[in-house]
Amino acid sequence: MSKYKLLLCDKMVKKKITIIGSGFSSLAAASYLAKDGYSVTVFEKNESIGGRARQFTKEGFTFDMGPSWYWMPDVFERFFNDFGKKASDFYDLEKLSPAYSVYFGKNDYITIEDTLDKICKTFEEHEPGSSKKLQKFIATAQQNYNIAIKDLVYRPGVSPLELITPTTAKRVGQFFSNISRDVRKEFTNPKLVSILEFPVLFLGAKPSKTPSFYSFMNYADFGLGTFQPKGGMYSVISGMKTLAQSMGVVIKTSQNVEEIVLENNKVKGIVSNDTFHAADILLSGADYHHTETLLPNKFRQYPESYWEKRTFAPSSLLFYVGFDKKVKNVTHHTLFFDVDFEQHAKEIYDTPMWPTSPLFYANFTSITQPELAPKGKETGFFLVPIAPGLEDTQELRDTYYEKIMSRFENLTGQKIKKHVIFKESFCVNDFVSHYNSYKGNAYGLANTLLQTAFLRPKLKSKKVKNLFFTGQLTVPGPGVPPALISGKLVAGLVKKNNA
Ligand SMILES: Cc1cc2nc3c(=O)[nH]c(=O)nc-3n(C[C@H](O)[C@H](O)[C@H](O)COP(=O)(O)OP(=O)(O)OC[C@H]3O[C@@H](n4cnc5c(N)ncnc54)[C@H](O)[C@@H]3O)c2cc1C
Repeated sequence: MSKYKLLLCDKMVKKKITIIGSGFSSLAAASYLAKDGYSVTVFEKNESIGGRARQFTKEGFTFDMGPSWYWMPDVFERFFNDFGKKASDFYDLEKLSPAYSVYFGKNDYITIEDTLDKICKTFEEHEPGSSKKLQKFIATAQQNYNIAIKDLVYRPGVSPLELITPTTAKRVGQFFSNISRDVRKEFTNPKLVSILEFPVLFLGAKPSKTPSFYSFMNYADFGLGTFQPKGGMYSVISGMKTLAQSMGVVIKTSQNVEEIVLENNKVKGIVSNDTFHAADILLSGADYHHTETLLPNKFRQYPESYWEKRTFAPSSLLFYVGFDKKVKNVTHHTLFFDVDFEQHAKEIYDTPMWPTSPLFYANFTSITQPELAPKGKETGFFLVPIAPGLEDTQELRDTYYEKIMSRFENLTGQKIKKHVIFKESFCVNDFVSHYNSYKGNAYGLANTLLQTAFLRPKLKSKKVKNLFFTGQLTVPGPGVPPALISGKLVAGLVKKNNA
């Protein structure tokens, strides 16, 4: 057969995949599927891509709207390596030094440095004898990391047997204890306890509900460190877009998918902005619950009562603030743990309500990357975790803005309120309207024992033949590195089911 005919045949058999959404998981899946020879089109409802990781600019200030902690650089590297590339082909990465700081009271803070040796010294200063315990704790966390992140999370959550390996069999106990218990067994200083419980908050549940095995997050924190891509987290999205487009992926923005059209129990296509688009296969990276609402009722796998019973990761009240001066006494990432965590956690998970006195997080990316703000000025991003589904009004947002700004001024010893050029807020209602998020959750479905691996909503629909899912409500879970992995896993399943 001539070369021309071969090319023609190839074009004729290319299956058409439509992807809903352009978050990390969708973009990752798009590249893997394009590499596997599919014709891929992404439909994104918003004007810009990136999903929860979008970026916005105002008056010369640049803000990442969602994720800001670049952890597990090896996962990003592995993603780009899968395409014969390196992360550095797309963006520059800097290890933050210090990694972050944590306030516990007025002028009372601990700075976490960029190496385990330095962190051990800090621990020793606060609790004599704790550095040895920390080394042991991180050594176990590293072993868990090697098992979990280098192997287990790359399994598609189809069967419980995926989790049973000779190495995990030895660690069964770690699935029935929890991070909180482990940390408290070894460390007594409440500040060090809070710092060691912090990393698993990224997984969306309380440390007391997070299995000990997830201590691999502590290795990600103290062992691997905190990084910052030049230009912000959005540089990763831009890099992934470049990669996907180089393989022929078509990305369409301002395309709201309103309906999934079926023929019998097979996807025929989608309706977006009132227009039908045919598809051989449909993959949704939009929130799982929302995707199922685009189907006729009898084709949904999980009823409303299922979602009601899940433990969702928190929603967030966010403020993006432009300051007319540099802010003092803070680092790029700064946590404010000066109030009772247990009380705040109760108000998120047990009796959902606006928190009485919340912990919060702030980042000032222009400290390490001055180009993200006009000269001599500072970007400020403030995040208050709250329960999903709370009533969200301007009045409540204003009340909490006042609360955290006053606390910030008091703790860091400076006046900043009068230096605010502008502030924009984002909360439950925006998570719903911008991302079709269930109850306005920010980070998807939490990783608890009963919401791990094969116990999470499935990557492949059981009721619709050629419908697949990816993203933070499915396998492996919340966060940017898991989203990259989710995209890879679902692409593998698509290929397997269409071989
Ligand atoms: C405030 C915040 C802070 C975070 N901080 C961190 C962090 O520091 N580090 C970290 O690793 N992770 C962090 N995360 C989590 C991380 O951002 C997410 O887990 C990840 O970005 C989720 O990617 P995704 O592809 O699953 O979903 P999304 O990014 O939500 O993508 C889904 C996409 O689908 C689109 N969509 C929805 N419905 C439709 C429709 N009907 N038609 C067309 N398109 C549709 C949405 O617009 C969106 O673009 C944070 C998240 C938030 C919100």
